[in-house]
Amino acid sequence: MKIDTLVVHADLFTMAGQGVGFIDDGAVAINGNKIVAVGASNELLKDYAADEVIDATGMMVLPGFVDCHMHTSLAIFRGLAQDTNAWMHKGIGPFVPFINEVSELAGSRMNILEALAAGTTTFCDYSSPILDIAAFFKKIGARARLTTSIKEVPPVKHKLKEHDLYPFDPAIGERTLSENLELVERWHGAEDNRITAMLGPQCPDQLSKELMLKVREIAKAKNLKLHMHVAQGDRETKQMLGRYQKRPIAFLDEIGYLDESLIAVHLTDATEEEARYVAKSGASMVVCSGSIGIIDGVVPPAVPFMEAGGTVGLGTDQAAGNNCNQIINEMKLTSLFNKIKYQDPEKLPAWKALRMATIEGARAVGIGDEVGSLESGKKADLIFIDLKAKTMLPVFKTPMRNHVPNLVYSARGHEICRVMVDGKTLYQDGKYLTVDEAEIIADCQMIANQISGSVSEENFAITTSATFMKEGKL
Ligand SMILES: [Zn+2]
Repeated sequence: MKIDTLVVHADLFTMAGQGVGFIDDGAVAINGNKIVAVGASNELLKDYAADEVIDATGMMVLPGFVDCHMHTSLAIFRGLAQDTNAWMHKGIGPFVPFINEVSELAGSRMNILEALAAGTTTFCDYSSPILDIAAFFKKIGARARLTTSIKEVPPVKHKLKEHDLYPFDPAIGERTLSENLELVERWHGAEDNRITAMLGPQCPDQLSKELMLKVREIAKAKNLKLHMHVAQGDRETKQMLGRYQKRPIAFLDEIGYLDESLIAVHLTDATEEEARYVAKSGASMVVCSGSIGIIDGVVPPAVPFMEAGGTVGLGTDQAAGNNCNQIINEMKLTSLFNKIKYQDPEKLPAWKALRMATIEGARAVGIGDEVGSLESGKKADLIFIDLKAKTMLPVFKTPMRNHVPNLVYSARGHEICRVMVDGKTLYQDGKYLTVDEAEIIADCQMIANQISGSVSEENFAITTSATFMKEGKL
């Protein structure tokens, strides 16, 4: 049979089945944007005649990573908001008045380059200006599952006293809902379903019960997922107790939000019992270990969620408090943090972290039948890892095998030498094939320089970083 591309002689990790699905001297046959066969190289070489044969000798080949939760536009503030107990007030908040759609897009484009080169092929981006970001995903060729934030709180909440309830402005709710619906209208299913959309009620404390119910009705009618921050901190819990006398998860249960359409991000302030309850409802969880570690100093309850039968994917969240968007980093941190939390080195082994980064992440965001594993009929989203990179050496194949532990605990991202989405190579040997890297980097730095020139001393002085700098420590 004639096909477009045949990848041969790979150390292939398909993620099919319950583990990592290893095939020695493996091959992947690709036609159009789909995988048509996966198997032994000698067999597929007999069965298929390809326009392009990619020799993956000395490479590990696996499905591209799924980043289940990210805010790419916030990368414009990378490194400006960490090491503080008040991330919103003394971390990112003082800079927020100085961001606009131009700077957000500049941060987003740079961040997408960073993550793509580090093996992310599916981006669940929760950002603005989302229509421009969607157009960039169209151009760069990556898979995108996009959301905007639906909320009703005016930008005054940092001025409120601790026990004040957030005011709601229904006009803001209508506007943010219509922006999300415009995204759905214009981009859901675009590029042969490479770009899709979800609905993004921000979190239970930032929109009214009425609007939450309306969003849920729309999600049901249009068969869309709800991508939502849930129990993301004690501030949210206090708001919910103050307004409804219920913790966030009990409230969501009461209004019918807990089912398979919900992607519950963070669960930072959820108890283990609450996490198990959400898992049993069919909702999925996204754990953002780096971000929540830096922002809150908490290890979210992903382990009890999975032990209760729930599906958990990994998210990088945002670079203004993570401070990177690399899934390899998340695999390592998620595994390590949970070993420490439970004082048990057997918790969250490398193979499990890799499944969370691929097939389980894909299932968590509702596209497990399309991506996340290398199997016939799925989309051809593949990454190639150079096994000659020093962080991956030496390689053992038999009787022991060390590829996956090396990838999770040793690799840094630079080992990735080719990234393919929908059967097309987007990044190879340090070069982006669909966008102008130099222009994007220059634009991002130029915008950062403009922000530096506009941030007031008074605003900067609020931040923890400013205190460190004043004391000659940073
Ligand atoms: Zn988030």
